[in-house]
Amino acid sequence: MNNPVTLYSYQARYGKRLQRLTVDGGFTCPNRDGSLSTGGCTFCDNDAFHPGYTHGKRISGQLEAGVAFHGARSRKADGYLAYFQPFSNTYADLDTLSRRYGEALSFPGVCGLVVGTRPDCITADKLRLLADIKARGFIVEVEYGIESVYDRTLRRVNRGHDFACTRKAFEMTAEAGLEAGGHLMLGLPGETREMMVASADVLNSLPVSFLKFHQLQLLKGTPMAAEYHEKPGDFLRPGPQDYISLLADIIERLRPDIAIGRIVSSVPARFTDAPWGLLRQDELMKRLVACLHDRDSFQGRLYTPAAKVRQCPCTG
Ligand code: SF4
Repeated sequence: MNNPVTLYSYQARYGKRLQRLTVDGGFTCPNRDGSLSTGGCTFCDNDAFHPGYTHGKRISGQLEAGVAFHGARSRKADGYLAYFQPFSNTYADLDTLSRRYGEALSFPGVCGLVVGTRPDCITADKLRLLADIKARGFIVEVEYGIESVYDRTLRRVNRGHDFACTRKAFEMTAEAGLEAGGHLMLGLPGETREMMVASADVLNSLPVSFLKFHQLQLLKGTPMAAEYHEKPGDFLRPGPQDYISLLADIIERLRPDIAIGRIVSSVPARFTDAPWGLLRQDELMKRLVACLHDRDSFQGRLYTPAAKVRQCPCTG
């Protein structure tokens, strides 16, 4: 039976089993350091996303600990990708970026970089640096936090940029010959189920290679958690079955070539406020595939190029 979802797979993309190793490159974020704001996105607590093995070590030490961490879980890999994940990993001058990426690339077994960043933290120079790394034979992927295609939502979560900025980042990245993916959060305040499904039409118009969907996680002490307790009716938090049905509706509208990575995120329980109680990635993915089979459907069934929407469909 064919898989109705275009799954993100290193084997399919690069012909080898690769393991991502999370790296804290020591960067910060303009939405934290006062350039844009000090409060950050209202959902953000970066501590929740650092694996313990990244704490207090140089990049090479983090990679060494990451190899040991995954090795102890019998995860076999033909090579590693250094995943610069916390904060905004292109938010520094070119020399600093070059040094920190270089330290990761010189670690034995590392065959590429995954660079997570904000769409407003990319420039033509930084993309050239990444394209030069790719030209040396390394894998390079850039992951942008899209989070929402609606400007009204982006304002409400204090994102500090609009969707036009996101579009520009993807277009510049494609022009530089680099693969770009994005994260989208499902459940941000004020977004209805219909808005989330309609997001697919906007995403289709981006030169995006892969997407990750995350349910909104309410993290302790964040402004978003406080907002939820004050106005729970503003948040759509479906249970597992409804979440799968929402994802299936989105995936039916997505371009068939966009590879789907994660569809759920998890952080250690000590960070969560009002846990959503969803299933793990592998179980959710199995159920999503089953849901699409039950519908006799597949990724892109409702996609037509005419359904691409360039503009954020938000008037607020
Ligand atoms: S851009 Fe990322 S690191 Fe910066 S405040 Fe938002 S979520 Fe946090």
